[in-house]
Amino acid sequence: MSIEAGTRDEVVKLAATMAQDRFAPRAIELANTHDYPYDVFDELAAAGFFGLYHEERWGGLGLDLFTICQVVEELSAVSNTVSGIVVGQLQGSLPILIAGSPEMQEQYIPDVVAGRIRVAMALTEPGAGSDVLGMSTTAVQDGDDFVINGTKVFITMAAVADVVTVFAKVSPGRSASNIQGFVVPVGTPGMTIGKPEDKIAASALPSSEISFQDCRVPAAFRLGDPGDGFKHAMRVLDRIRPVIGVRALGVARGAYEAAVDYLKNRDAFEAPLSSFQGLQFMVADMATSIEAARALIKRACEAVEANDPLAPRYCSMAKYYSSDVAMKVTTDAVQLFGGYGLMREYPVEHRFREAKIAQIVDGTNQIQRWIIGRGILGR
Ligand SMILES: Cc1cc2nc3c(=O)[nH]c(=O)nc-3n(C[C@H](O)[C@H](O)[C@H](O)COP(=O)(O)OP(=O)(O)OC[C@H]3O[C@@H](n4cnc5c(N)ncnc54)[C@H](O)[C@@H]3O)c2cc1C
Repeated sequence: MSIEAGTRDEVVKLAATMAQDRFAPRAIELANTHDYPYDVFDELAAAGFFGLYHEERWGGLGLDLFTICQVVEELSAVSNTVSGIVVGQLQGSLPILIAGSPEMQEQYIPDVVAGRIRVAMALTEPGAGSDVLGMSTTAVQDGDDFVINGTKVFITMAAVADVVTVFAKVSPGRSASNIQGFVVPVGTPGMTIGKPEDKIAASALPSSEISFQDCRVPAAFRLGDPGDGFKHAMRVLDRIRPVIGVRALGVARGAYEAAVDYLKNRDAFEAPLSSFQGLQFMVADMATSIEAARALIKRACEAVEANDPLAPRYCSMAKYYSSDVAMKVTTDAVQLFGGYGLMREYPVEHRFREAKIAQIVDGTNQIQRWIIGRGILGR
């Protein structure tokens, strides 16, 4: 099965079919394993899922952002692990797409698209997550090289990556103009990747600490112009936020569909659960909030495609609203399953855990509200 050709609708339909046929039978296993599923990565690569965004000259499909979101929704509705592999490959390559030199893009992007390499992006530090400017990792120029020192945390896919894009300060002080991105091949002396954290969800997708001790990289590995790293990192986050939002939306949809099915098939008080109006109201709220989130994601994607100056605001809205919807919908789905909702062999408890992650990663939902609020109020 491959998504190489076809109209946008066909691409989305193929993603849905593949998700159902290939990954639905393994969804609970994939949600709970602590082993990275290399076979899923290979299957996604062979089918063309890593080139959704990337241009055709690199072997990609160059799809518009909303079609990509639709594909991610279909994958995520079945398995947040599967959608996470696709999103990880996209996010890890975005710094190179946004700020890499043409030579660097030629070197890495075709390999990303073909699945010959895995990529990750390292911004967060032990003492600086939301507060990106508070980072303390440094990259000091020494002749034709830069020497990186510092620690990054929670870096998704680092433990399985071939290349990590790393953001560091090239001069002291708290400033948006002294941060620089670097491409750092895994295995570069001085770079150590820790063992994956034991987290409540997405346990198959490793998040690890990376420490840099006198890690030397050539100046040619810099991403973009000196000091533009903060701007580049923010551009990556703007682009990825609707995708993170739709990944959460897919999780919500998966939980909602499972709950609807369950209500139709379980009886209480000598009647199907689906006949109780109180539960019908819950289902109505779930369905409505999923539709509203999808509309907001579409709005954000359109704003990005149109280079609308308000695009970052819409992307923040799409990310926080969709992940908040996912948290509410998955919580309600667990409730509708009763005691079974808490059992690992039922299809809702892992989605409840996965929704929580989406409220935190790629800028917490408080930070999204801050971006929106200060933009509206002009401060
Ligand atoms: C599973 C997982 C995967 C991740 N993957 C990656 C990755 O691949 N690459 C990467 O670079 N990072 C990654 N992260 C890091 C993630 O982006 C950060 O955890 C997130 O940005 C929050 O930073 P923090 O954890 O330091 O929390 P903090 O910034 O310490 O925030 C703590 C709390 O305070 C709130 N807060 C902070 N500042 C404000 C403010 N000004 N106003 C209101 N509230 C505020 C936050 O919303 C949060 O609730 C990952 C994290 C997780 C959990």
